[in-house]
Amino acid sequence: MSATADVIIIGGGVIGSSAAWHLRQDGFNGRIVVIERDPTYARASAFLAMGGIRQQFCTPVTVQMVQFSVELWKRFDAGMAGSGHTPRAWFRQRGYLFLADEAAAPALRDRYEAERRAGAHVRLLSRDELRPLVPDLVLDDIVFGVFGPDDGYANPREVLAGFRHAAGAAGAVYVTDDVAEVTHAGGRVTGVRLASGGTWSAPLVVNAAGAWGGHVAARAGLSIPVEPLRQMLFRATLPHHWPYRFPMVVDPCGVHWRHNDPVNAGDEDGIIVAFTKWDEAPGERFDADQDRWAREVHPALVRRLPALSDLRDAVGWAGLYEMTPDHNPVIGEHPALEGFVFACGFSGHGLMMSPATGKVVSEIVRLGRSETFNVDLFAPDRFERGALVHDAATI
Ligand SMILES: Cc1cc2nc3c(=O)[nH]c(=O)nc-3n(C[C@H](O)[C@H](O)[C@H](O)COP(=O)(O)OP(=O)(O)OC[C@H]3O[C@@H](n4cnc5c(N)ncnc54)[C@H](O)[C@@H]3O)c2cc1C
Repeated sequence: MSATADVIIIGGGVIGSSAAWHLRQDGFNGRIVVIERDPTYARASAFLAMGGIRQQFCTPVTVQMVQFSVELWKRFDAGMAGSGHTPRAWFRQRGYLFLADEAAAPALRDRYEAERRAGAHVRLLSRDELRPLVPDLVLDDIVFGVFGPDDGYANPREVLAGFRHAAGAAGAVYVTDDVAEVTHAGGRVTGVRLASGGTWSAPLVVNAAGAWGGHVAARAGLSIPVEPLRQMLFRATLPHHWPYRFPMVVDPCGVHWRHNDPVNAGDEDGIIVAFTKWDEAPGERFDADQDRWAREVHPALVRRLPALSDLRDAVGWAGLYEMTPDHNPVIGEHPALEGFVFACGFSGHGLMMSPATGKVVSEIVRLGRSETFNVDLFAPDRFERGALVHDAATI
């Protein structure tokens, strides 16, 4: 089988599907083909993510991209409805709170100032100001908190389903297959060859393959340092319906949690918890270490919020962060291969940036350059040039 498209998007996760949806929203009438090898998305990062959305970064373009995205998050469920799926992404704008103890205070204060300079809406809160936000917190060792009131979290699976269905309803064609090769001739991309044997030709190909963005680059003969890194999450049931809702709370030790609100009548109230394992070795692993809950995660939570001692039914799972050497995404056309556009390697913060990234890809495809945001910093060849982007607020 051999067919033709105007643009091929490799990977139909949140980035690829947002790009397809934005292209149609922006009036692109060409044939959009999204090649996604697993329509169940069982291993897609978006399917397994925490859903945190924050503008607390030190790089102005990142802040701008999240601020743009928040405008879509606020109307996401309504905006993506009417496609055969009514999403319940439920963006909860409950804020994102980083707590500083004595040891963490100098770095977090510097970071707060850099975030403000970058344009982020963020506030430094005293202990007294923190209390009403999360009344049960132990604050004895806390010096201050940094709070992003516009931040919050959304249900990642519903974000994925919302973008996916809306892009399909807008006319993007989803093909279930594995891209085995990105074909090119004379320094220009020409299309893709599929594992099933078929080929698609197109003048533009987008690499939205998430943690597999490096593999897909290699299939075009290019080297891009995107490495999969396992990240574990735990879900647990609260002992009773909690009298208030949690923002995303980030403890100085690294443990962080958010509410997991009941969805249907009769569902119990819960939380989702992460505790990044800093010595995790890169690699594609999806097994969760269930023992970590009792050993490390739950004790750290209880130290900060003793009322969480009676949590029940904790269950862990794991997905992949898609890490680059500077923990920032790879966005833009590759200078060595005309028409091959990158939008991958978001290093654990791609869900929150997916609306703005879709817009960027739409502009690169339609106009040949990104106009709404200057994403030059994230260029695919920055690693070879040694032009890494350092941001103290990336994971
Ligand atoms: C545990 C965890 C917690 C996270 N928490 C957050 C958070 O709080 N906030 C946040 O913003 N981000 C978070 N992230 C990161 C976020 O999930 C990712 O940055 C985001 O999903 C990236 O989207 P994507 O579309 O690039 O990748 P994915 O969602 O992984 O989609 C990529 C798709 O490409 C497909 N694909 C790959 N190779 C091929 C190929 N050769 N052919 C065809 N298809 C292919 C895959 O099947 C996959 O469906 C978290 C991630 C994890 C794992």
